[in-house]
Amino acid sequence: MVVAPKIRGFICTTAHPEGCAKHVAEQIAVVKNRGPIANGPKKVLVIGSSTGYGLASRIAAAFGSNAATVGVFFERASEGDRTATAGWYNSAAFEREAAAAGLYSRSFNGDAFSDAMKSEVIAAIKQDLGQVDCVIYSLASPRRTHPKTDEVLKSVLKPIGESYTNKNLNTGNGVVNEITIDPANEDEIAQTVAVMGGEDWEMWMEALASANALAPGVQTLAYSYIGPVLTWPIYKNGTIGQAKLDLERAQKALDQKLAPLGGKAWISVNKALVTQASSAIPVVPLYISLLYKIMKAAGSHEECIEQMDRLFRDRLSSGNPQPDKAGRIRLDDWEMADGVQNLISERWSAVNTENFAELADFAGYQANFLKLFGFGLDGVDYSADTDVAVSIPSIS
Ligand code: NAD
Repeated sequence: MVVAPKIRGFICTTAHPEGCAKHVAEQIAVVKNRGPIANGPKKVLVIGSSTGYGLASRIAAAFGSNAATVGVFFERASEGDRTATAGWYNSAAFEREAAAAGLYSRSFNGDAFSDAMKSEVIAAIKQDLGQVDCVIYSLASPRRTHPKTDEVLKSVLKPIGESYTNKNLNTGNGVVNEITIDPANEDEIAQTVAVMGGEDWEMWMEALASANALAPGVQTLAYSYIGPVLTWPIYKNGTIGQAKLDLERAQKALDQKLAPLGGKAWISVNKALVTQASSAIPVVPLYISLLYKIMKAAGSHEECIEQMDRLFRDRLSSGNPQPDKAGRIRLDDWEMADGVQNLISERWSAVNTENFAELADFAGYQANFLKLFGFGLDGVDYSADTDVAVSIPSIS
C-alpha cells in the first residue's frame, strides 16, 4: 500500500518502512564517516532503543565501536493496513544493518518497567553475552505500571506552584499563540517522578547486578535536559524537572553501588531536539524552531546521532568526559553557549506569527518531525506501494 503521513496533533499515526530504514541508514553513515571509536563499549544494553536518543545511542555504539547491542522498546507491529510504529521499523532496519555488518543485535518489545521484561532481557544477556559493559537508560513514557504495586502512574508536563503563561507554537500551522498551563498538584508531581525519575533505572541496574550481568568498569547513563530560563517553569522547575532531579539522585546512588566494580553512573544532559517525546512538551517546539535556525547558522547544529556520536567518541571513550561541577556530562554545551542563548532571548521576545518564518526554522522543525516517522527522506519513492508488514529478525 501507499503510506502517507497522518498527523494528529503532535503525533503521526502512520510510519513508512523504507523511510524509517533510510533514516537509520543515514544515522549509521554519520557514525561510520567519523571513523571507528577507540576504546568504546563492546556489549551495550539500551533501554528505550527504538527512536530518538536511545536509537542514536544504539547506532553509535554498534557502528562506532563495533558493540553487540541489546535493545528494549515498546512499539507496535503492523496489523493489516495499519502500519507499524516508526520505532518498530527503525529496529527492524537496525537489526538488518547490524547483521550485514557482522554485529550481534537482539531486541525485546514490551514494557521495560515490568519485572518480566527485566528477567527476559537479563536471561538473554547471560546466555549470549555473559555481561554488558554499558547500560543506556533512554525511556520516555507517559505512564508506568509499577511492578510492585500494579498502580498505573501517569506523568504530566505542568509547572509547579503557579500557572505558567508563555508563547507557544501550533506545530500544525505555524501560528504563534499563547498557552497557560495550570500547576500540578502533589499527586501529579509524585506520579511524574515515579514514571520519569530514577527508580526504574535503579531497578534495572539492581537486577543486572544481582544476575552478575555487569562487567567490571561498566558505565551506565540516563539522559536529562536543563534548557534556558524561559522554559524552566515548564521543564526544569516543572514536574518533568522533578523527575530529572530524581534521576540525578539515582545516578549518585548507582555511582556508589558500581564503585566496587570500577563502574560509573552518569547523567548526560543532551540538546533539545525534535523527538516523539519532545514534540509533546508545550512551549518547547517554539524554542526548538528558534534554536535550529541559530545553531544551523552558527554551524553547531546537531541531531540525535551527532549528539550520541559525540557522547561515545569524545566523552565516554576518550578518558575525558568533561563533567560539569555537578558531575554531569554536558552535550547541551553548544546549545547553552552565550552567543546562542542571547539570540534566543532576543528572538523569543520578538517572535510572533508574522515574523516566525523569518526568525525560526519551522521548515527544519517540520522536516525533522516527519523524518521521525520515515517521511521526507531522499531516495524513497513515497508514491510506490510498500509492504507494511516488516519483521524484526530477533523478535519474529
Ligand atoms: P523518544 O520518544 O524518541 O524515545 C523513547 C523510547 O522509550 C522509545 O524507544 C520507546 O519505545 C521507549 N519506551 C517508552 N515506554 C516504554 C516502555 N514502557 N517499555 C519499553 N520502552 C519504552 O524519546 P527521546 O526524546 O529520545 O527521550 C529519551 C530520553 O532523552 C528521555 O529521558 C528524555 O527526557 C531525554 N532527553 C530528550 C531530549 C529531547 O529534546 N528530545 C533532550 C534531552 C534529554
